[in-house]
Amino acid sequence: MGSVCAARLLENGHQVTVVDDLSTGHADAVPPGATFVRADIAEAAGDLLAEGYDGVLHFAAKSLVGESMEDPHKYWQGNVVTSLRLLEAVREHGTPRLVFSSTAATYGEPDVVPIPEDAPARPTNTYGATKLAIDHAISSYATAHGLGAVSLRYFNVAGAHGSFGERHAVETHLIPIVLQVALGKREQVQMYGTDWPTEDGTCVRDYIHVTDLADAHLLALENARPGEHRIYNLGNGTGFSVQQVIETCREVTGHPIPAAVAPRRAGDPATLVAASDRAREELSWKPKLADLSVIVRDAWEFTRAREQS
Ligand code: UDP
Repeated sequence: MGSVCAARLLENGHQVTVVDDLSTGHADAVPPGATFVRADIAEAAGDLLAEGYDGVLHFAAKSLVGESMEDPHKYWQGNVVTSLRLLEAVREHGTPRLVFSSTAATYGEPDVVPIPEDAPARPTNTYGATKLAIDHAISSYATAHGLGAVSLRYFNVAGAHGSFGERHAVETHLIPIVLQVALGKREQVQMYGTDWPTEDGTCVRDYIHVTDLADAHLLALENARPGEHRIYNLGNGTGFSVQQVIETCREVTGHPIPAAVAPRRAGDPATLVAASDRAREELSWKPKLADLSVIVRDAWEFTRAREQS
């Protein structure tokens, strides 16, 4: 997300400084034209923001549901404590705007699908709980200090933007894993549970193209208003089961992609699908690449290009 947003900001005439400790990121994912500072955001934010910035887009986080259940300290420290230090730097230097990467995981198991922003936030995993805690902190800072803030609740980000795509040292996300099977790098994909209360028994998610998500960040920056903390869901409003995703990957890649049944993964809600009407109405956001086969196609092109390079 960070690399694609930085690229889109530059394309739109902004000046961009990227701060990343490269604990999970890659220096070559910083787009040409951006200044790169290799540092922990909690350490670097004070000095950097003293230089005077119009806004901060805060993507840095630990973001794996399974890991968050096994190592909660990594998430409370890495997400909440780090974000509080960033918020303090924002306050101290009067940075006017903040756009924060929140998540569908803040909602937990929903009562109503598609999920609106005013649905109860009852996260089922530590990752979602830490992101929700940061959302609450941002609201307090907006009220008390006049910060103009927007939290974007991402549903399942996928696809790729040219040479920027998903590159995790240990891959846990569904679409990249399925594409590794298509590439011959894994023998099969494991479906985490086929006994969920969904139509085919596998979990349902709302997949959204990374380019569409990046465009929402630019709109959020433009629409941030002092003293307000707005929250927007970003998804396409259509749910696809794990089985349907695998089937789409088979169609796009032409590979058989063997799949096996595995136990449920701790912390997973059965269904997460977004109601994004608020972002469409208030930000005039309109996803352009909503078709799952387009999302998979772009991820597949990226995966194959990296394999050949
Ligand atoms: N999933 C799966 N097998 C995998 C990886 C993921 O069945 O190898 C499922 C996972 O349980 C979830 C969905 O695919 O229901 C999407 O998972 P992902 O990790 O991509 O995103 P998340 O929903 O956790 O943000």
